[in-house]
Amino acid sequence: MRVIQLVDEWTLQAIVERGHGLSFECDNCWRLVAVDVLTLVGQFGPAATIGEVRRKLVCKRCHKRRARALVRTGNRKDDWIPTRPRGGR
Ligand SMILES: [Zn+2]
Repeated sequence: MRVIQLVDEWTLQAIVERGHGLSFECDNCWRLVAVDVLTLVGQFGPAATIGEVRRKLVCKRCHKRRARALVRTGNRKDDWIPTRPRGGR
């Protein structure tokens, strides 16, 4: 739980500076969407946190507000914080 909260507190700027990728996964239907962090910065500003963005998202498939943030830190399949996607490979 602590790690999940930590990701929510990261700012968009921190993701950009570290060169990480950001995806959101629906906790209901497992739809996985990789987002362009720079687009989010344009919409919400660099100081917005992942948690703020995540709470605004509605799943396009099941229409639930149950997104969780997954940060991709590298190219290996386990390079995800807090966990790698459930539905994706
Ligand atoms: Zn969904």
